Amino acid sequence: MSDLRCQLDLLSAMNKKLQRDEKMLRLICETSNSAFLYYNYEEGTVQTIANWDYFFDFKVTNKMDFNRFYDCVEEKYISPLREALFIEKRGMKSTTIDVKMKESKMWVEVETNIIYNEQGHPTDKIVRFKDVTKFNSQNDELTYMAYYDILTGLYNRNYFVRLLGEFVRKAKEENGNVAVMFIDLDDFRKMNDGLGIIVGDEIVQLFGQFLSELANDNIVISHFNSDIYCIGIYNPCGNRSVDAIYKKIYERLEKPFKLSTGQELSLSVSVGVAEYPEAASNTLELINCAEIVMFKAKSSGKGKIQYFDGSILEDFLQNVSIETKLKEAVFAQNFNMHFQPQFHTTDKMLRGVEALIRWKDETGKMIRPDVFIPIAEKNGMIVPIGTWVMEESIRIYAEWKRKYHYPMIMSLNVSAIQYKQPDFIDKVVQILEKYDVSPSEVELEITESILIDDFQEITEKLAILRDIGIKISLDDFGTGYSSLSYLKGLPIDTLKIDKSFIDTVITDENTRIITESIIYMVKKLGYETIAEGVETQEQYDYLHEIDCDNIQGYYLGKPMPPEEIEALIEKTLA
Ligand code: C2E
Ligand code: CA
Ligand code: CA
Repeated sequence: MSDLRCQLDLLSAMNKKLQRDEKMLRLICETSNSAFLYYNYEEGTVQTIANWDYFFDFKVTNKMDFNRFYDCVEEKYISPLREALFIEKRGMKSTTIDVKMKESKMWVEVETNIIYNEQGHPTDKIVRFKDVTKFNSQNDELTYMAYYDILTGLYNRNYFVRLLGEFVRKAKEENGNVAVMFIDLDDFRKMNDGLGIIVGDEIVQLFGQFLSELANDNIVISHFNSDIYCIGIYNPCGNRSVDAIYKKIYERLEKPFKLSTGQELSLSVSVGVAEYPEAASNTLELINCAEIVMFKAKSSGKGKIQYFDGSILEDFLQNVSIETKLKEAVFAQNFNMHFQPQFHTTDKMLRGVEALIRWKDETGKMIRPDVFIPIAEKNGMIVPIGTWVMEESIRIYAEWKRKYHYPMIMSLNVSAIQYKQPDFIDKVVQILEKYDVSPSEVELEITESILIDDFQEITEKLAILRDIGIKISLDDFGTGYSSLSYLKGLPIDTLKIDKSFIDTVITDENTRIITESIIYMVKKLGYETIAEGVETQEQYDYLHEIDCDNIQGYYLGKPMPPEEIEALIEKTLA
């Protein structure tokens, strides 16, 4: 009796242990993010365990049901999956593959394990299905990022360079051609600043989407960065294929782009084109040439296309050489100042001088400021150059003042980039204090383009400078967009009428009428007037007659070194 009892206790204990083990196994399976399939060869039975429903919407109860798996996966995974599920046919013990599900797009890792008996016959098969979507899509993303630009879905720069390299290689073999179109959205910075970078991104995206429609086997399209796109064309039929593409772009740009906000926006682009083998013999050079040519298109007015031509490259290289020399000149302060006198029209007495920078390069060749100042403005060197001009001019002026006690106005050209420096005003004040020059003896010349780009910021600074007592003068009036009504309320004291008016004022009736009304209006607004580029007695007499306050020009004095200005002061005082 006690034996039986003992056996019962043992059975019950074993049963409990079995239940515990089963529970433990089930928990392990269920929390493993996997589903399992167990096949018993001897009995021919199939059993599914754990998270089956997560993966499949069908049950597998016999071997025939295995076919259902093939309907679930994308076409190209069907046969690898068949091989993986039946590895016993190849005598394998285990294998693992990844398959992609057709509907759910889930990535599933399928691992098959077979157990063989001593005779080498399979006895048990366990297949594990595991969700590896997260891991695989990260891989997908990495692959995508290696080739494509996320924002536009176009090829990225690196991959484009590779594809273009292929085109060039093929062209070399087949005596073919490759054209590169370098495309830059006009005024993108303004749109980005004005509408915000989110809208900026949307613009880049919309235009990129449009470009992508132009792609085919022989046309690859990429987004380089920001607002720059590049198109590579294999074996173009001369300019004709490029022209045809440009025509499509041009026609699209005639219609506005619609933003997600509903707002409509018109775009224009500048395009540079360079061709292999004419412009360059390798990929990177080809892209560089197209870029340089694009800059030329941009500077000759926006919304244009420019084809490569050797002289453009030459000019560019010359500018690069000027830039290099300019850097050295800034370092060595290899500049000097000339001053052009300005006279009161009525009595031809000296009103003041305009400071004009002069630079001779190391070979003694004179480089004109209208050549190197724009370069210095582009690369930021205008800031140290401008500070030097200001300090040197005021230093010289202080010397004249000490020597002659003749009150004059020192007029300085100041670029927009200088105004935008946060310490610009402090710098001016410091220099004035250092040389003990009164603010009223200094006039800063600005051009209208400064005001167009950053009206608010600059006018605020101008107002502060005027409060200090410094004069502000609007240079080159008449060459920009300005209208007389726009002048009203500008924080300026003086207006300089551009040389282009003075040039034709005698010969052209219209210019005369315009010049007269400018002077009349400007005087009414309370500004002082200066006529620039006065070269003849006739021009002078006429300007005198119409009451222009001051005259500057070769007729009464060219820009000259400081000693000659001293002679002029002495003459005035005599
Ligand atoms: P701008 O400010 O309009 O200067 C007047 C230019 O006209 C000067 O050329 C001057 O020599 C020239 N000019 C004056 N009167 C006559 C005339 O009767 N006939 C002719 N044909 N030309 C005349 P410059 O010195 O070559 O300067 C060219 C431009 O370079 C200046 O135009 C100015 O925009 C810029 N610049 C010169 N110095 C500086 C500087 O220190 N800083 C900055 N930011 N720009 C400067
Ligand atoms: Ca000037
Ligand atoms: Ca001027």
